[in-house]
Amino acid sequence: MSGPDASGIIPGMDGPQLRVGLGHDTHRLAPNRPLILGGVPIEFERGLLGHSDADILLHAVTDAVLGAASLGDIGDAFPDTDPAYAGIDSAVLLRRALERVHAAGWRIVNLDCTVFAQRPKLAPYKAAIRQRLAELVGLPVEAVNVKAKTGELVGPVGREEAMSADAVVLMEKAGG
Ligand code: MG
Repeated sequence: MSGPDASGIIPGMDGPQLRVGLGHDTHRLAPNRPLILGGVPIEFERGLLGHSDADILLHAVTDAVLGAASLGDIGDAFPDTDPAYAGIDSAVLLRRALERVHAAGWRIVNLDCTVFAQRPKLAPYKAAIRQRLAELVGLPVEAVNVKAKTGELVGPVGREEAMSADAVVLMEKAGG
């Protein structure tokens, strides 16, 4: 069996054409910034610093989506040196990434992700974040999972200097 061709199809491989994509993001916490995770505003005295709205979860999901389709990363697709992306809603970036992925013939099967934050407690927000993510990626809520962990009081997350997010998606070739 030879490797995948330019379309991502592996010649001679039976069954659905599947791809996995991984995403990770970290942003620093700063005063006078809104905190938005997975497109959901979170009540907290600080927020994440960044060129866009600094939504680490949507950035991780966007990288996972681009990664599964071998389309590079969020920095290639939406350079943070481009003033067009200053303060942009990260949901717009995710939608644009999905358009590219769909154009390449891929669709998401499921999405799993983890947010790392020492504070605030994210348990009250997990259902809303899951619902919003499902809407954004066009999946039933049952195919989306959101987990939250603290930093165990150590490292940049535990010291409340930063928050991080991981995401993984499975994709299949549409119609195959
Ligand atoms: Mg980011």
